[in-house]
Amino acid sequence: KANTIASDMEEAISVAVRVRPLDELEMKGNREIWFTNPDGTSVSCMDNKTGKNVEYMFDHTFGKEDAEHGYIYDCIGASIIDSVMMGYNGTVFAYGQTNSGKTYTMMGTEDNPGIIPHAIDHVFRIIKESPEREFLLRVSYMEIYNEVVNDLLRTEGAGLAIRDDKKKGVVIDGLKEEIVVSPEHVIHVINSGEAHRHVASTDYNLTSSRSHTIFRMIIESNSLSDSSRKNVQVSALTLIDLAGSEKVVSTSILRKREGAYINKSLLTLGTIISKLSERKKGEKIGHLPYRDSKLTRILEPSLSGNARICIIATVSCASSCFEETSNTLKFAQRAK
Ligand code: ADP
Ligand code: MG
Repeated sequence: KANTIASDMEEAISVAVRVRPLDELEMKGNREIWFTNPDGTSVSCMDNKTGKNVEYMFDHTFGKEDAEHGYIYDCIGASIIDSVMMGYNGTVFAYGQTNSGKTYTMMGTEDNPGIIPHAIDHVFRIIKESPEREFLLRVSYMEIYNEVVNDLLRTEGAGLAIRDDKKKGVVIDGLKEEIVVSPEHVIHVINSGEAHRHVASTDYNLTSSRSHTIFRMIIESNSLSDSSRKNVQVSALTLIDLAGSEKVVSTSILRKREGAYINKSLLTLGTIISKLSERKKGEKIGHLPYRDSKLTRILEPSLSGNARICIIATVSCASSCFEETSNTLKFAQRAK
């Protein structure tokens, strides 16, 4: 059983794109130029004015008519949680420029909860349906800002060190792990963590995260008939709201430094994922630069081996975002 998913490499990395509608600001003086096609797997740029016409293919695409997060979750998230509950590591990333819909997609709103709340509900549903097993769930919530790892569950948890432990693998020293017992409990933990999140205003004149936010749930389980606890199954579900991928044009040293750190980690992540997908196609891939950024170091166990990975790239349909949308789609394309 252990290899059924791994050998089904087609499924190891999936790439989705979500195109968001014009927002109020964009409606003034912008054209809608990016569209999802009815096939559900491609995105086109159709701009009558400039004659630009390109098409990108992905595993799933979601347009403005796909606003229902339950639908998006069923398409890209549910199967990952199923495999996490079977003992595989699962990871979902939201990648895109600031204001493209990463947080909206991952967290959603109270009326329209996103991938994270859906995933949490799903985990607890499976637990309920598995009375023959006992489970222990531990949640951590952290951000990486300027290559510094901060624990969002502790006010004093700034600048945590990452180290390699012989037995446990990659360890973040002092990271708080909270044992959780219900979906409401997890949401409460996330909300308390949000208060600690490091935010700064961007050139978009919006407060927005310049940090990567990592939610992780470690799922440990054991068959109740196995009193020896010799077959404890441990897996990690990691859900990541990445820092904005946009090129930052700024004279501020602070902004430039943030941008440089973000670029470095996103570039490293892109390189690793594209190499992993080359391996999927049977090519030899050589060295994977996990150690080049904190993000990829922390994620190594969640990306290597039998991990299931989904990238959801979020973009705006607006003409003013043409450059950044193209960059995001190219990043996502590399993962294919
Ligand atoms: P990011 O996290 O990438 O910076 P947000 O998720 O905060 O962007 O989204 C920016 C704004 O756009 C928010 O007000 C959000 O509600 C809205 N938004 C994002 N994606 C969509 C979408 N697919 N449909 C409708 N509104 C969206
Ligand atoms: Mg955000």
